[in-house]
Amino acid sequence: MRYISTRDKTVSLKASQAIIQGISKDGGLFVPEAIPLVDLDKLKDLDYKALAYEIMKGFLTDFSEEDLKDCIGNAYNDKFEMPEIAPIAQVGEKFYLELYHGPTIAFKDMALSILPHLLKTAMKINGIKEEVVILTATSGDTGKAALEGFANVDKIKIVVFFPENGVSEIQKLQMKTQTGDNTFVVGINGNFDDAQNGVKKLFNDGEFVSALKNEGYILSSANSINIGRLVPQIVYYFHSYLTLLREDKLGEGEKINICVPTGNFGNILAAYYAKKMGLPVNKFICASNDNKVLTDFFTTGIYDRRRDLKLTSSPSMDILISSNLERFLFHMSGNDDGLISSIMKGLAEEGYYQFDKEKLVDFFGAYADEDEVFKTIGQVFNKYNYLLDTHTAVATSAYEKYEFEYNDDSKVIIASTASPFKFASNVAQAIGIGVRDLDEFKIVDTLAQKSGLEVPVAVSSLKDKKIIHNNKCNKEEMKNMVLDFLKVGVNND
Ligand SMILES: *Cc1c(COP(=O)(O)O)cnc(C)c1O
Repeated sequence: MRYISTRDKTVSLKASQAIIQGISKDGGLFVPEAIPLVDLDKLKDLDYKALAYEIMKGFLTDFSEEDLKDCIGNAYNDKFEMPEIAPIAQVGEKFYLELYHGPTIAFKDMALSILPHLLKTAMKINGIKEEVVILTATSGDTGKAALEGFANVDKIKIVVFFPENGVSEIQKLQMKTQTGDNTFVVGINGNFDDAQNGVKKLFNDGEFVSALKNEGYILSSANSINIGRLVPQIVYYFHSYLTLLREDKLGEGEKINICVPTGNFGNILAAYYAKKMGLPVNKFICASNDNKVLTDFFTTGIYDRRRDLKLTSSPSMDILISSNLERFLFHMSGNDDGLISSIMKGLAEEGYYQFDKEKLVDFFGAYADEDEVFKTIGQVFNKYNYLLDTHTAVATSAYEKYEFEYNDDSKVIIASTASPFKFASNVAQAIGIGVRDLDEFKIVDTLAQKSGLEVPVAVSSLKDKKIIHNNKCNKEEMKNMVLDFLKVGVNND
């Protein structure tokens, strides 16, 4: 299996090399040249780890069986709250795939608990002697999950940039209290797109890259532009489908809908790869919040980022440039690297592009505004005593719009991407708890009382942790922050 760049098909790497490099030098993303097929019958009775091996081995063909099984074993263990790793909750007619039972209580753990192991193995395979610096932009959840995964990992340093005013209180505390000498966390004056663009720029800054290289560092990425994050995310779509099949909640070969609260388009792209591998899927519902660039795109075929980013109660989806859509469009265009280069140039320079809408028929875009998010959390809680976080509420509301419009009675799996406790203040308000005079931890306790849920340790343990990272910078200063942290000098004078 080779990985090719979406902007230049002649660039072709092995899986381990693509994981180390993160992004192609031409600015394109690495995609698998072909998607491996699986036989559902043979996967039916496998547990999460065994299934993960069967799915991932088709993508990571230069990893030995022993190495890949070690990576999987070290990732999906008792760091997760339950042995099934990603349980399903049936709520009314809908199935919620709960992806938030890992160490940082958001779905990013599903991939970021294994990425450090994949990266270390990839370095071993390629005989890399340098130290790796992971540069990461986060809308809140990737940052903490990556810090947790990479903290104290030998020969790796990790730098995380987050929008200072664009994450929840709990998210901010989680990152600022991160221990490990190899970790560095910076809040930037700007939004997630600024952070992501800044990081992408550093990857393409020749002077910066060679200054690091001279000091024995190479760069890599923990963002979902890294193929090492996408591949592990395919597993849980198979796992959920097979679980429902075993429990007779689905018939043999029955097609399901998959609805995903979407930001950078990574999670839903993994679902699309699952379909290409043989998972019976009817429609993909791509759910957005008020930053509904993707809803507009799937409705009109025009991707237009020329609008202001809104800060919403679902900050992990406050994004105007969904990086992984580039991969999807590459596949949909029949691997047309010339077309992808030119539309991505259009996006960077003009702020928009147009794509043939006829090629997007498997996808439906829908969004939920802030009012609908709060109402949905309240209604689902009152009716079913089930607590949604704000992101999962976006997906639920968007799905209801889809169902209404298309009269589709397929069963649906909704990706539930975060614990409600991670966004406690908004979730509490949505179920009628007055939060005005309460501090974050009091809100969390009240939420636990009213819902009957236990406060996750990831949240309760924050109370006693020391703030370690208090760095702030403007988006123009990101480069210098990294150089300072690594104690690397460049000739500026
Ligand atoms: C990252 C994230 C999303 C968006 O996922 P993408 O793969 O970026 O589309 C949705 N919900 C939560 C809670 C997240 O952390």
